[in-house]
Amino acid sequence: MIALDLQCGVEQLGDMIAAASMIVPFTGAGISTECGIPDFRSPGGLWTRNRPIPFDEFVASRDAREESWRRRFAMEATFAAARPGRGHRALASLYRAGKVPAVITQNIDNLHQASGFAAEHVVELHGNTTYARCIGCGRAFDLPWVKQRFDQVGAPDCSACDQPLKTATISFGQAMPEDAMQRATELAQRCDLFIAIGSSLVVWPAASFPLMAKNCGAKLVVINNEPTEQDEIADLVIRQDIGETLGPFVGN
Ligand code: NAD
Repeated sequence: MIALDLQCGVEQLGDMIAAASMIVPFTGAGISTECGIPDFRSPGGLWTRNRPIPFDEFVASRDAREESWRRRFAMEATFAAARPGRGHRALASLYRAGKVPAVITQNIDNLHQASGFAAEHVVELHGNTTYARCIGCGRAFDLPWVKQRFDQVGAPDCSACDQPLKTATISFGQAMPEDAMQRATELAQRCDLFIAIGSSLVVWPAASFPLMAKNCGAKLVVINNEPTEQDEIADLVIRQDIGETLGPFVGN
């Protein structure tokens, strides 16, 4: 059912939140657009400007690694300036109130942690771009160190095993993180309310989680300003701005 307008949507969502005992939010790039981080698929989104670099190309080509790091550092001012928006803060309020055990996110921007979620309660399906990892031994590196190496030698390699360093994100063609997939599965199967926020729900396997929650008996809410692939199975669709929709739940 599509909410008639913003006010109806907020009221119906409020009723569903009040009735639920375990709520699992699932977030996509749309929750962070009001924080100044563009999404991928909207006009002006990242993909209208840059073709994504698949994992095998990153591994095989030094040029691809140089380009990948150039793009990342070009975005640094944007990521560094971003602060949690109303959507993040509303979810953090529900987390503090004990209604939300953890958030599942496709985002890589660290804003759920910045809003007050403990790191172990942010299930990152696509990793995190605020630090780097060696693709060989998995060792973590902070970005200022990587930037210094990049300025000296170009795309840097691991100081321990000489394999390439990459932002700690999951690229197309790269294996999904097993632990995050397992935890997201458990959350989707156990919750009684699942809220998909700011995702076009076209990236799989991440988009399997709303469907899984619904199939396991949870109510499903979709909040997104354009239609998504799973509106048809949702109990409530709020086709409105995320900040406007979740703003009333900040601080509750
Ligand atoms: P997407 O770009 O495919 O979809 C975002 C959706 O949010 C779109 O349908 C858009 O219309 C909607 N939206 C944007 N701003 C909104 C607002 N203020 N209110 C309501 N709706 C709004 O993003 P996705 O589904 O997350 O998938 C793309 C992939 O991109 C993800 O895997 C993620 O890893 C990555 N990504 C992450 C970030 C980030 O971390 N902030 C940014 C860009 C891309």
